[in-house]
Amino acid sequence: MSNYMYNTMFILFCQFFISLTNTLFAIIHIMNLKNKTAAFFAILILLLIGFILYQSLKAPVSVVIQAGHEGRTCGNTGAVCKNYKEVVWNIKVADMAAAQLKKWGIDVKRVPADTLPVRAKIAVAIHFDSAKHRCHSGASVGYPDNNASRTFAQHWKAIYKPYFPFVWHADNFTDNLKEYYAYHTIFAPKFLVLELGEITCPKQTHWLEPRLKTIARLIAYTIATELGMKVKRVKG
Ligand SMILES: [Zn+2]
Repeated sequence: MSNYMYNTMFILFCQFFISLTNTLFAIIHIMNLKNKTAAFFAILILLLIGFILYQSLKAPVSVVIQAGHEGRTCGNTGAVCKNYKEVVWNIKVADMAAAQLKKWGIDVKRVPADTLPVRAKIAVAIHFDSAKHRCHSGASVGYPDNNASRTFAQHWKAIYKPYFPFVWHADNFTDNLKEYYAYHTIFAPKFLVLELGEITCPKQTHWLEPRLKTIARLIAYTIATELGMKVKRVKG
C-alpha cells in the first residue's frame, strides 16, 4: 500500500472512530439508559481501543523486526525438525538483529507474529524454510512488488548470497505480498520476508547453527546501510 493510500485510510479510520463514539454518546443520551455505569465502561473501552490503535499507527518507527510464527500456538506455527524449531531460531535472530540496530542508535520495534498495526520505514520478517523433500530448499526473499522493496531485496541478496553456500530460490514477489500474514498490520514502504535457510536440511542446520549471530548482524548491517548509516560490517 502506498503512503498516500495509507494516510488516507488512516484519516478515514479516525473520522469513522470519532463519529462512532459521538453516535454512541447520542444514543445513550436519547435512551437515557438506566445502566449508566455499564454504558460508561463500554465507552471507556471503546476510547481505549481507539487510543491504542491511534498510538500504534501515528508515529512510524525506523525499523520493525518480526520473528516469524512467534507467539502462535496453532495455525501456522513454523517448521519443526528433530531438535530444531524454526520459531526458536527466528526469535534468536530477530532479537540479535534488533539489539545490534539499537546499539547503533536506530529505533527498532520487535514484534511477534501477531501485532497491533504499526508503521515503519523498513520492516523485516525472519524465517527459516522447510521442505517436504529434504535439502530441496534454501534461502530466498519475499517482498511486495514495489520498487523500494525490490531494491532493498537486491541489497540484502548482495550481502547474504555470497555468504550462504546453499540453494537460493528465485525472489517471491507478489502484488501486495498478500499471502504473508503480517502484511496487513505492518505498514512499511520497504518490506522483506527473509527465508534464511532450510531448517529441515541437516547440512544447512549444521552450517547455520553456529552462524546465527553473524547472520543477525548481516541483517542489521543491511538495514542500517539501507537507512543511510555508515556502520561497520561484520566479517561474513
Ligand atoms: Zn516460517
